[in-house]
Amino acid sequence: MNKVRVRFAPSPTGPLHIGGLRTALFNYLFAKKTKGVFMVRIEDTDRKREVAGAEEYIFKSLEWCGMQVDERTTDNSHRQSSRKELYQSKARELIKKRLAYYAFDSEKDLQKLRESWGKKKETFIYNWKTREGLKNSLTLGDEKANSMIAGGKAYVIRFLCPRNKNVVTDDIIRGAGNIDSSLIDDKILIKADGMPTYHFANVVDDNMMRISHVIRGEEWLPSLALHVLLYEAFGWSPPKFAHLPLILNPNGKGKLSKRSGDSSGFPVFPLSWGKENKILGFKEAGFLPKALNNYMASLGWAAENGEEIMNMDELIENFKLEKVVSAAANFDFDRLKWVNQKHITKMSNEELLHEIVKLFPETKTLENTRVLLAVGLVRDRAETILDFWELMKYLFYAAEMFDEKAVRKLSEKTKDILEQGEKIARALKNERPANGGEKLIGQCLDWANKNNIKSAQIMMTLRLALVGGLHGIDLKKIISFIGVNETSSRFGRLRKALD
Ligand code: GLU
Repeated sequence: MNKVRVRFAPSPTGPLHIGGLRTALFNYLFAKKTKGVFMVRIEDTDRKREVAGAEEYIFKSLEWCGMQVDERTTDNSHRQSSRKELYQSKARELIKKRLAYYAFDSEKDLQKLRESWGKKKETFIYNWKTREGLKNSLTLGDEKANSMIAGGKAYVIRFLCPRNKNVVTDDIIRGAGNIDSSLIDDKILIKADGMPTYHFANVVDDNMMRISHVIRGEEWLPSLALHVLLYEAFGWSPPKFAHLPLILNPNGKGKLSKRSGDSSGFPVFPLSWGKENKILGFKEAGFLPKALNNYMASLGWAAENGEEIMNMDELIENFKLEKVVSAAANFDFDRLKWVNQKHITKMSNEELLHEIVKLFPETKTLENTRVLLAVGLVRDRAETILDFWELMKYLFYAAEMFDEKAVRKLSEKTKDILEQGEKIARALKNERPANGGEKLIGQCLDWANKNNIKSAQIMMTLRLALVGGLHGIDLKKIISFIGVNETSSRFGRLRKALD
């Protein structure tokens, strides 16, 4: 087999959505698996839809996910907008071969036709059915057409789509298909502004860039027959195709979109985006890139050995393009969290801290060994890196406020409990910190027992004082971590707050 060369070909029309990112990932996995080349080509021929910053965002996202790009657009050679002349000369080749033609119909004329056909409940298609009655070099003749062009008349170049041809397509994921070419329109290859259309630039580039496999989203499947016809028109052999399954909303209805993420409260973009980074990305929401990759790979594919938690190397090792399924996959945020959590459990405290510091720079000012210890204490409860600070901040700072609901549950004995707690804590001040928690809780419970106070009540009171709410790790561990002095002062704080 020739060397595998695949491309991820985004259009910089906005931030990279998880759908596009999954396409990039499958290209990347396939390239690495086969020791091939992973290329990024920027398809920026639709200048009107271009969004500032989108291209940079795409590369940053790939970098964050750990997908190293082997070939990219440093010298503009992989940016379609800088290859305009090439596409024009390729389109003229087809005109010479009488497989494409100039068309002069104005958008207004075409709109009128669409409307009048619409009234007859038919769809206007520019092809064998209609082209003979329209303004193009086929009907006007070459001479006239050339003089119109020389005179500055606006034109497009259209593909002369053959009639009654059975176009056979093949797809690694979906198998063979065929379509009657008579149903396809004479697609525009070069637009009035001189820019190629997606279809044309895509086919020319895939050929010129020696792409061996086109791996892209299912939404391009309907274009496949046209692309195959274009390859034939040039006499080129087409690459192999694989159209990845759609990613649907969690309820299985409709394609996953930014809007569905917004309304359901989960990210759909890798990195935050927009003015003041208003739209949260997976990164800022505390997801590890390896977990996101792992989860994305499961949208349409599963390892044959049943392994569910894999890092990038393991994904590469297990990945098989031909095992990708055609059925659409529902986006499942809970599963993504589960995968993330599984990756967290595989990481050392040091590795976790490295990630935590990125999201919570304030942790840098704390004593490193203490933060590491805290990470170890709370790590089992974290689904995301973002969870960590919330889970452990009471280990470093006394709560500024107490949870009101919890306060309402306190009994009339609360003050006694807290005073007693303070007394016990003070008496333990020379105790080794590691024993502090065990002893303090033990003595508080003994005292509660003697004074007819339920142990649940005392534990709740102490927890509220130490944490500010009713969540958190084992009380003994909290006390041993913060020390008996801090414990006593936190008891005092709650007592005063209740006054
Ligand atoms: N520019 C197209 C997109 O953004 C690429 C499709 C393809 O890979 O052929 O989806």
